[in-house]
Amino acid sequence: MPSTQQPPVGIDLGTTFSAVSYLDNSRRPNLVINSEGDRVTPSVVLFDETSVVIGKEALKAAALEPDRVASHVKRDIGSPHYSRTILGEQVPPEVIQSLILEKLKRDTEEVLGPISEVVITVPAYFNEPRRKATQDAGRLAGLDVLDVINEPTAAAIAYGYQHGFLDEDGKTARQERVLVYDLGGGTFDVTLMELDGKNYNTVATAGDVYLGGIDWDKRIVDYVAEVFQENHRGVDPRQNPAGLQRLLRDAEDAKRTLTARQQATINYEYAGEGVRVVITREQFESLTADLLERTLFTTRKVLKDAGIGWTDVTRLLLVGGSSRMPMVQRALHDASGIKPDRSAAEDEAVAQGAAIYAGLLCSTREGEPASMQIKNVNSHSLGVLAQDPGTLRPKNSVIIKSNTVLPAVQGRRFKTSKAAQKQISVKVIEGGDAAGNNASPIGRCVIDNLPQDLPAGTVVEVFFKYAANGRLQVKARVPSINREVAMTIQRDSGLTEAKFQVWREKLLNDEGPLESQSTALRKSRGA
Ligand code: ADP
Ligand code: MG
Repeated sequence: MPSTQQPPVGIDLGTTFSAVSYLDNSRRPNLVINSEGDRVTPSVVLFDETSVVIGKEALKAAALEPDRVASHVKRDIGSPHYSRTILGEQVPPEVIQSLILEKLKRDTEEVLGPISEVVITVPAYFNEPRRKATQDAGRLAGLDVLDVINEPTAAAIAYGYQHGFLDEDGKTARQERVLVYDLGGGTFDVTLMELDGKNYNTVATAGDVYLGGIDWDKRIVDYVAEVFQENHRGVDPRQNPAGLQRLLRDAEDAKRTLTARQQATINYEYAGEGVRVVITREQFESLTADLLERTLFTTRKVLKDAGIGWTDVTRLLLVGGSSRMPMVQRALHDASGIKPDRSAAEDEAVAQGAAIYAGLLCSTREGEPASMQIKNVNSHSLGVLAQDPGTLRPKNSVIIKSNTVLPAVQGRRFKTSKAAQKQISVKVIEGGDAAGNNASPIGRCVIDNLPQDLPAGTVVEVFFKYAANGRLQVKARVPSINREVAMTIQRDSGLTEAKFQVWREKLLNDEGPLESQSTALRKSRGA
């Protein structure tokens, strides 16, 4: 690798914790220790009076100044705004994520010198708008996002690396059918992969972007809050943001204790009153049984989609901090008969896999032969939403089914309805049922400059393509005149290019990115 070039870098941008890994000269993944001396950085941002603080210090402030602190932003990425206002501002999630990435970039540069090219991980279950928004967050942080990679794929690559799948001689190569169960802080992902020598193929994937450790914490919060109410005249500490944040922190502590011990005690004070609540592991498990069942339901769905049963699975790989909970390991063992493997569960495994993938991208760009092959599937079906001419009801006409091997292209024919029509517009969605209920809108694919004088009924062929990383591209042509026509995606969510530039300028003025960000927010508050 030429010395002028930066080493390959992979970023695990987690809902609760983030980690960075890079490949050293001998192509071994190494973890970046952050400026606080830690292996992982809490994905938490504090908008302080004079600056923006990211990570551990921001996490500490969450209980004191909840209205200044953004956490679990990854859950909202792809939506127009972060779920809470920060200092009265509606901040796009991309912007907050970019501040976290900026800090990770700075800490990495302390070790490696200037970097820009990175791979960022995303849950396999992320839909297309969430993938795009993650890439935008990277750009906003001054990073050149070479690609996004699915977290279970990255975990499987790390697993493969640890077990010698990537050895030059390939002698240790063996085929495995690996089920990756990733229960993190805020998202749940389950993916079936086939590992064969240098091939990492995803077979099926499913998940839940609103299910993770935080939901287990909240059950403890509710339990303690109810005890508090019973003892203190119905006062509910959850109504107060600071009271809630403190209780959440205590609940998370208790949850971790319950991983190691049979019971945990919470001493919680609020508004001058206190309660002492003892929770046993058994109680905790019954308070959260339905959450666990949701993950098992999704796991069964993946096996079904892949057309296999547990006996076909050769390895059950547990990833994510929440898979440390004994209830998770026990339930999976019981369901599968397989002893869960947590060898890819260290905090850095996903970042490691991302760094190895970044290394692959860099070396193939240099013309070296690929050291491994990675195949993805799309986590959501791609459909066109139109009116059913018979029933006049909305109809989701699926173009690319979920769990199709990527890249995938499908053409669809549309007809102009009148002579000399200039425009065609198609509404595209991901997921949803036959009527398009519960789908995520992507936006409209629009052609607004069809060639002159086409007769009514002219066929326009639109090609929908998922790239290998799940990003959507569209193309169109008019077969009768054998011409390509320009087609754009007008998105329903995400930062527009114009807004992106505004935020970029706010972030990148002379004062340095982080200072200016908070200045911008303070100014808009009239401070
Ligand atoms: P993410 O990738 O979503 O940021 P992680 O994989 O780092 O998340 O997992 C973080 C989650 O794991 C948090 O909800 C945290 O409370 C939980 N967690 C970490 N350690 C333990 C433990 N020992 N027992 C139970 N839960 C844990
Ligand atoms: Mg994770």
